[in-house]
Amino acid sequence: MLIMGPPGCGKGTQAERLSRRLGITVVSTGEVFRDHVKNLTPLGQEVIVHLDAGDLVPDTLTNRVVRDRLNQNDVRVGFLLDGYPRNTSQLAELDFILAINGHALDVAVQLTVDDAELVRRMLHRATMTGRSDDTEDVIRHRLELYHQETEPVASAYSQRGILLSVDGMGSEDEIFGRLLAALRASFPRP
Ligand code: ADP
Repeated sequence: MLIMGPPGCGKGTQAERLSRRLGITVVSTGEVFRDHVKNLTPLGQEVIVHLDAGDLVPDTLTNRVVRDRLNQNDVRVGFLLDGYPRNTSQLAELDFILAINGHALDVAVQLTVDDAELVRRMLHRATMTGRSDDTEDVIRHRLELYHQETEPVASAYSQRGILLSVDGMGSEDEIFGRLLAALRASFPRP
């Protein structure tokens, strides 16, 4: 499965909680890139300008990272992708990777939060974590990119009938409860 949503919607937090509850491994492209930046790897040095500007990391780099990660043994039984695909060419790449590995997506979860609330949350997060891409200009740019580049990905999954949209307004616990309820309704236990 995968989880998507605008920057600041809380998908990283909810992905971690889903992972613990359902016992599936999270693959977060944002986390992978931030780790590389922190560890000063060659990839980290290449991607840092894009992260700090709130731009998407070029598809060639991102796709390679995801392809390598999804070929590892621990995700053979399933995974929860967080932050990928973010545009329609990454969507095509993911289709390709899954087809080669004999996998198929069960569900794409989308968290929805209005823009004003997102900006408020990210500015608050900036004071807590000091994420270098949480400044107001960069936040607005990331939001614009989400609307332009990533919403078409959600539409594509919707057309395929696998999009599960969940209201991302409210407390962490409320949102997690809604997510579990939506997943249970879509995948009733035998
Ligand atoms: P957010 O959703 O709050 O922006 P993420 O941790 O998902 O946070 O992503 C942080 C940054 O990492 C993005 O702004 C972008 O620069 C980079 N990134 C993450 N995932 C992708 C992706 N699939 N394609 C390109 N860049 C990505």
